Amino acid sequence: MNAMPGPSEAAPAKACPICGKPAGDQFRPFCSKRCANVDLNRWLSGVYAVPVKDDEDEDGARREDAPPQDDQSH
Ligand SMILES: [Zn+2]
Repeated sequence: MNAMPGPSEAAPAKACPICGKPAGDQFRPFCSKRCANVDLNRWLSGVYAVPVKDDEDEDGARREDAPPQDDQSH
């Protein structure tokens, strides 16, 4: 009898969607907890539009300097 799941389902080494490194078993599909948090922050920021604090640069999230303010009174 075949009580065990098919061994043919060998999980291929997937690349981390964040940095492209091989994903780790503990943080799949990410390579590390950091990348998992990055993805989580992206997801949250996309839903709640909350400011995300990130030490490293992130694709798609570009910060600009203070917006031009027209605070001059005539
Ligand atoms: Zn990664």
